[in-house]
Amino acid sequence: MIAELEIKNLTVSFDGFKAVDDLTFSVEHEELRVVIGPNGAGKTTLLDLICGKTRPTGGSIRFKGRELSRMQENSIVRQGVGRKFQTPSVYPKLTVFENLEISFPRGRGVWGSLFFKQSEDVRERIREVARDTYLSDHLHTSAEHLSHGQKQWLEIGMVLIADPKLMLLDEPVAGMSVRERQQTADLLQRICRGRSVVVIEHDMNFVKQIAHKVTVMHQGKMLVEGSMDEIQANEKVREVYLGH
Ligand code: ADP
Ligand code: MG
Repeated sequence: MIAELEIKNLTVSFDGFKAVDDLTFSVEHEELRVVIGPNGAGKTTLLDLICGKTRPTGGSIRFKGRELSRMQENSIVRQGVGRKFQTPSVYPKLTVFENLEISFPRGRGVWGSLFFKQSEDVRERIREVARDTYLSDHLHTSAEHLSHGQKQWLEIGMVLIADPKLMLLDEPVAGMSVRERQQTADLLQRICRGRSVVVIEHDMNFVKQIAHKVTVMHQGKMLVEGSMDEIQANEKVREVYLGH
């Protein structure tokens, strides 16, 4: 298996404080990796580094052999990297359909947007993504009237519509009901076909359902990596994470 995402010795220092400290790990094609760790471990910062929101102080981030760490955020998006942030940031006054439409990748630059037409292809893709994210019955609902869980799904859909090859999700089930969590687990399992997925999550039952492999971060470093069973049996993890 060839690693699709290869992170080596990644470090970022904020005024001398290393939020991510010499982190090395890789994710394979079609792998769903979950990153866990106590608050302040550096998980969100890791996603910020991958998607170019934060510049690393050192180390490298390679995706499909290309170095991302010196690219601008929009170039990283064009490499096929999609990010869902922790708090849903949908457009409240627009409908589900319009939110998905606005997120559909147009051609580059002004010409692409100028001549962009809402073709049947685009409408079909919007309906497909809405089906995938359990929003088919809400296509014409304003986003502000969706439940919190549905807003999370819509935001996943807004990333998914660009068909990213690496999808980064920060705590996607925060605030969801048990049933919505189950549906999201199914959704993520479908999403990782044909792409790599990195999910940050706290809910251990959810992690157990979705993770192929788990990476545990602590104080910016990788503490351990392995299957959920290995992680749960690990003494170091119990100490720092489970509070034993
Ligand atoms: P997690 O997502 O694992 O809870 P974060 O990645 O958000 O942790 O934060 C890791 C640490 O880095 C925290 O101590 C946080 O305060 C610090 N941090 C994150 N971003 C910045 C920043 N831009 N400037 C200074 N410190 C930061
Ligand atoms: Mg975080």
